[in-house]
Amino acid sequence: MQTLLTRNVPALDETHGPDSHEAELRALMAMASHDLKSPLASVSAHVQMLHEDYSTALGDGFRQDIAAIERGLRRMNQLAQDLLDYARADHTLELAPRALREIVGEALTEHVAGPNKVLVTQSGEWPTVVADAGLLRHVLDNLIGNAIKYAPADTTPEIEIEAHTLADGTVRVEVADRGVGIPAADRPRIFDAFHRCANTGGRPGTGLGLAICRRIVERHGGHIGVNDNPGGGSRFWFTLPKLV
Ligand code: ADP
Repeated sequence: MQTLLTRNVPALDETHGPDSHEAELRALMAMASHDLKSPLASVSAHVQMLHEDYSTALGDGFRQDIAAIERGLRRMNQLAQDLLDYARADHTLELAPRALREIVGEALTEHVAGPNKVLVTQSGEWPTVVADAGLLRHVLDNLIGNAIKYAPADTTPEIEIEAHTLADGTVRVEVADRGVGIPAADRPRIFDAFHRCANTGGRPGTGLGLAICRRIVERHGGHIGVNDNPGGGSRFWFTLPKLV
């Protein structure tokens, strides 16, 4: 059985008081993004029906228009999901001791399974952390997902994941890749909501993933950052405070 612990890291609405405009905006955003999902699903289903019923009769022009609508719908769905995740990062933390290796393993299984090959190296000593497992998994999902997404086209993505306990008991996790890297000019804003770097090269995205990661890590009392990976690519890292 898992023990639920509490750490005194308040949600945003508690830190800024009941009048906080930001807390209200986040709640509104959660509601709006949640409510958008159902009409989006309905539009997607109808577009799919149009595709099935008329593509053969109406030919290439029609198929291209449908494909463009479907791409737009996928972007809208992703944005609605990311906005929902952004708001969820403020939920009350459910803290419990969890083996970091298990959470990393779950995240890797999801990203590495399937037809696309990914080279993964794991090292370190994999401590137990006190964390909200669902939210921590979200951070790892984002960092691993980005390491794969931002690999140069036509290469096998390489990911190196490392976890250590520092001398003061802080746990440090690093997710490194051989991807396109973060341009120096973008670095100061990389964890800001909606910021996308100049070198995304048309890869899909909303610029919300790293902002969500920062919020989750900071609510756990940790820090997050990125360095160049010696030899090419990026080395994202985050810390979690000492297990108490
Ligand atoms: P998204 O990937 O949806 O655009 P994120 O918030 O996850 O949003 O990332 C913000 C930006 O940081 C991305 O648009 C991309 O330019 C850059 N980025 C994130 N992770 C990586 C990475 N591993 N390698 C290179 N660039 C990255």
